[in-house]
Amino acid sequence: MIRQFTPCWPDNCLAAVSLTFDDGPPSQLKCAVPILNNADLQATFYLCPRGNDFMEKLMPWRDVAKARHEIGNHTVTHPNSRAFRNDPAIPGLEGMTLADIEKDIVESKCRLQQLVPEQKEMSFCYPCYMEHVGCGPTRQSYVPVVARHHIAGRGKGEFPFPNPPATVDLHYAWSWPAERMSGSQMIGLAEACVAKNCWGIFTFHGINEGRLSVTESDFRDLVNYLTINHARIWTVPVVKVAQRILEWRKENGL
Ligand SMILES: [Zn+2]
Repeated sequence: MIRQFTPCWPDNCLAAVSLTFDDGPPSQLKCAVPILNNADLQATFYLCPRGNDFMEKLMPWRDVAKARHEIGNHTVTHPNSRAFRNDPAIPGLEGMTLADIEKDIVESKCRLQQLVPEQKEMSFCYPCYMEHVGCGPTRQSYVPVVARHHIAGRGKGEFPFPNPPATVDLHYAWSWPAERMSGSQMIGLAEACVAKNCWGIFTFHGINEGRLSVTESDFRDLVNYLTINHARIWTVPVVKVAQRILEWRKENGL
């Protein structure tokens, strides 16, 4: 028999949705943030604080945090698989140890805390959704490293599965890459969350920008839908959903 739990989402909402944005390309500040602010919806923006001048470069994101969006950790160096290039001289994740990745994650978190000191907690985002270091016999997951330093981590999931609050691994929560999706496809996925009382996470990169783009018009369709349906769908940053799930698990003895 499936156990009955108290409702997880606040204000009688039937689902949670988080809109997440990776890498901070210009169209996020120029287009996504104003659209979200006009709709009074808050999202999560995952940034890499690179270079000694990271504070100066990331200064515009302070206003984004002031508008109650989450600034999240995307590492300093954005390490990904060396198999993206045919050049064994580049170590990539396969040439890294757990200690190497931990050093990067901790440094990045520390820099982002300097950028947005008012933000008490932040979630993590796996660069290119990859959660391993090493290769073959030495390959291992770095999810436990993320779990030591962050309340939650965002990875990549399967269509059309959203995250069930009772069972989601908060340190590798599933998300749907939204590039090239139509507004109606994204709305369909949000409704799949409602049907299952689950948490859906969308991953965006550029808006009308770059190879992983969605169009502004499709993005507006999703934002309008979430605004109109705010009494049914709780649209908030990843960190807020993770906090709520942890509270709810306690309430339900999970
Ligand atoms: Zn990235």
